[in-house]
Amino acid sequence: MKIKLPTKSLAFRLAVLYGSLFLVATGLVFAVVHLILAHKLLQNLDQDLKEDVSEITTIYLRKGLPALKSLASAELAEEGPNNFFFRILDSEGREVFSVGNSVFKTLPWPDRASESPKFFVFDLTDSLGRVRAVVWRLGEHRMEMAVPLRFNQRILAQIHRAFLWAGVVALLISFPMGFLFAKRSLRQILEIERVARGIVDARDFSRRVPLSGRGDEPDRLAETFNSMLEKLDLYFRELLQIFDNLAHDFKNLLSHLRLLAERALEKRDPEEREELIVRILYESDRFLHLLNVLLDLSEAETGLLKLRRERFPVKDILEEVDQVFRELAVSQGLNFEIRYPDEDLYLFADRARFLQALLNLVDNAFKYTPSGGRIRVEAKRKGEDLVIKVQDSGRGISPEELSRIFDRFYRGRGPERGRGLGLSLARAYVEAHGGEISVESEPGRGSVFYIVLPQTLPVETTHPAKEIVED
Ligand code: ADP
Repeated sequence: MKIKLPTKSLAFRLAVLYGSLFLVATGLVFAVVHLILAHKLLQNLDQDLKEDVSEITTIYLRKGLPALKSLASAELAEEGPNNFFFRILDSEGREVFSVGNSVFKTLPWPDRASESPKFFVFDLTDSLGRVRAVVWRLGEHRMEMAVPLRFNQRILAQIHRAFLWAGVVALLISFPMGFLFAKRSLRQILEIERVARGIVDARDFSRRVPLSGRGDEPDRLAETFNSMLEKLDLYFRELLQIFDNLAHDFKNLLSHLRLLAERALEKRDPEEREELIVRILYESDRFLHLLNVLLDLSEAETGLLKLRRERFPVKDILEEVDQVFRELAVSQGLNFEIRYPDEDLYLFADRARFLQALLNLVDNAFKYTPSGGRIRVEAKRKGEDLVIKVQDSGRGISPEELSRIFDRFYRGRGPERGRGLGLSLARAYVEAHGGEISVESEPGRGSVFYIVLPQTLPVETTHPAKEIVED
């Protein structure tokens, strides 16, 4: 039977990773413990051998060979022939005395010996295994001593076995534990997947991922996912609203146009008929204008708007604003003031669109300022920028509304109902020129809108006055 591993599951892959890391870590710990222990055991053995060497040296020097031989024989009786070997050779290399298993004699003993003892590890092929040997010279004699490393190796083997068992048990536990742990860590991600799937299947943007409150990475991901859903939800609802508004406007206009056309058909009098046809044209133009605004908005927001830039004095555009609104100001009883810049400032911009942006701001100031109020338009240079300020003493804008007034189709809650496109178009046009539009307002006291355009041109400009440059 072929077992199919769930390699596509992140939890499984993490569990395998945990298990492998655990195995490598255990292996490393094992190697380090083995090295330290082997070294320590050899050190202890060498310490014993050194003590034997110094005892042998003392007895040899003080009491001579016979005493040494009886000491070696006593040692052998204590340790057993396979656990201790001692041999004395004369200067010619002939054996003077030896105790212990004669197999030790077959070791590759070095030919020469110095006065200070030298330690070796030799391998014996028979059951004695590895041995620790020491060789040194005493007078005209050569001393050879050896003990097997068997005991050290036995201790090490026991430790190896213990490690192996511990490793196997830990590995058996680590994989399922790792799997459970990974599954637990991934629970919130699985939850996000479940919610996302639910949204796709049920088209329900009101669903949210429950937060664990731990504030860890998956929790933060869930939080970001929820706030993204919130934004999308809002965006879709706005989009639906925009669609509704447009459909409503279209329906009203078409019904109105149809009614006018029907009436025109009924009229016998050519003058009355012409009057109705002119109204149809006027209404159609109004609607076409709305559609153009929407198209311009989309183009400006996607960076596709083509600007027809030309050089013109800032003063000219302020005069145009004055012309458009002067009469209205008088009829509405508003104090309308235009402050021209102290110096000759020039702009290199799309004149029609820039004027439209400014007119929209001033138009709003007129719409939202009651009779007796004050409206001021002011232009001046600030460093390299041109700043145009449109200030009114009208009803002001609440802090909650402030963040939304530049949104497409956003209309305030006041009685004056516009289409909610004026500010979004103004912002799109200003931004298309590389500028910025901002607002400060205090409810009940009025508002100030700022247009900041970079690179105000001085009088001596590099652009000829009549040249029109398309972006
Ligand atoms: P509208 O056609 O509704 O005026 P705008 O996009 O020009 O659309 O403005 C959006 C909303 O911002 C308005 O409905 C109004 O509530 C608010 N607003 C804009 N300008 C002012 C202002 N000068 N004073 C008070 N409220 C304003």
